[in-house]
Amino acid sequence: MQHAVCVLKFGGTSVGNGERIRQVAKIVADHVVEARSGKDSPTPVVVVSAMSGVTDQLLRLARYACTGTNEECARELKQLKQKHFDAAAEVVEQREHQAQLLGNLLSTLEALERDVKALQLVAQQGQNVTLRTAAVASYGERLSVLLVAAAVRDLGTAAQAIQKEIIITTPPQLNDDTQPFGVVVGAEPLPRETAENAHGLIDPLLAEGVTPIACGFLGRTLTGYVTTLGRNGSDYSATVIGAALDCQEVTIYTDVDGVLTTDPRLIANARLLPHLSYAEAARLSWFGAKVLHPRTLIPVAPRNIPVRVRNTFRPHLRGTVVGPVVNGVNGLSGARAITVRRNLALITMESTNLFGAPENAGQVFELAARVGAAPIAICSSSGHHLSFVVEEQAADSIIAALQHDMGDWLVRCRRALAACACIGSGFVSDPMSPAHAVAALAHERILVIAQGSSEQGITLIVEDRASVRALRSLHRELIAPAIPLVRHAQATTKESSLATSASRA
Ligand code: ADP
Ligand code: ASP
Ligand code: MG
Repeated sequence: MQHAVCVLKFGGTSVGNGERIRQVAKIVADHVVEARSGKDSPTPVVVVSAMSGVTDQLLRLARYACTGTNEECARELKQLKQKHFDAAAEVVEQREHQAQLLGNLLSTLEALERDVKALQLVAQQGQNVTLRTAAVASYGERLSVLLVAAAVRDLGTAAQAIQKEIIITTPPQLNDDTQPFGVVVGAEPLPRETAENAHGLIDPLLAEGVTPIACGFLGRTLTGYVTTLGRNGSDYSATVIGAALDCQEVTIYTDVDGVLTTDPRLIANARLLPHLSYAEAARLSWFGAKVLHPRTLIPVAPRNIPVRVRNTFRPHLRGTVVGPVVNGVNGLSGARAITVRRNLALITMESTNLFGAPENAGQVFELAARVGAAPIAICSSSGHHLSFVVEEQAADSIIAALQHDMGDWLVRCRRALAACACIGSGFVSDPMSPAHAVAALAHERILVIAQGSSEQGITLIVEDRASVRALRSLHRELIAPAIPLVRHAQATTKESSLATSASRA
């Protein structure tokens, strides 16, 4: 029998320590109860990230292994083990579960040590270390699934960790010096092969009433090499697995109430957005909102599978639903969210003969893609010029490629920039919205260096050092005006309580 399933993905902060993992287990067990209650609720398949900070730790470990810094390597490994043993002591209460969990953790840690040694060897022989590094980076998830599965079982709900890779990918491009260490570029999920593999691993568990707890982030090639979907890629892996299982919904459990109007770490009065269209959410994540990995919606949007973003620590809240446009819910809106993407550079190509830019745009972007750097935003073009924004760390290699292949063009670069995106499906149909955005920055004396617009909103390129100020003024002007707290010496109780609630708005 085919089960109607939903995918529940828990991020690194949600599984950050033993106590949090117990909270995750409680949520999973509640979903299982609901699915069995006959209320048409789908059966959960769980996807988890590594405990927060662990993938960084594994990449440091891999780097030490490659550079032969053995003492640091051993220290990092010891800390990693301790972190998981500390969590293990908290996640299960029953003795037999405790012993089983420790045994599973130990054998996984031994496998990690073997993979670190294999990486060391490859590095000593001067071979490319990309694939072996990906194998080491994958252990964070292989360890956290053990903790989560044990915690769920400890609550009396049958659960099984799946340490094997579910997602089948293309082989990655082997890193060259232009990529940061440990970033595996170009491993793309193969949908048909992934669906076959996912059903093979998950269906037998569902048939027995066992909840599968799968690793986010990692995959493997058809020939068996471990790959990853890139840093912060477990949101993406959850939707890849969700699409492979044709699930009803993917829920991303994280540490905020849902998708907010802006980054809550930067702006205190960010508000919850109950609904977002796929296009709005895609733009939001592309322009810097960490809450969703930029590729998250690719597997699910064409199938109209909704993605819900919820808070692990406040599970009674419904969160944000990202889904197809529903009339009256996602209808045209002004600015709904403001984001900032930092550390960018603006590259401008100018032709000396005053013409030729449109014809040569294809060549420019092909060269950028060849060095592994897609433009973040294309800002402007005319007969003889073309300007676009890229990640600052990729600028040098793009410039070198452009100068090499397009020698008769003048290439200029302005660094230390950021993109502030004002996002909303009706943003540009209201003539005042773009005007308000530009005026807000002008009031703050913030120069708009370049800009781009589309049906989903506008993007303003500003100096990086002014970007947080720009974000604040755009959010204040377009979304949530700050209401000054007015104090009246003889205010009545009612008036003063009104003033206080307004100041909190
Ligand atoms: P996880 O560990 O669950 O994957 P992340 O740290 O990757 O969580 O993403 C959640 C974080 O994203 C939040 O803690 C929040 O600080 C940040 N964030 C940035 N922009 C937004 C936004 N617009 N809405 C919600 N969260 C945001
Ligand atoms: N553990 C991976 C990382 O830290 C994937 C993720 O958490 O999204 O990049
Ligand atoms: Mg994340």
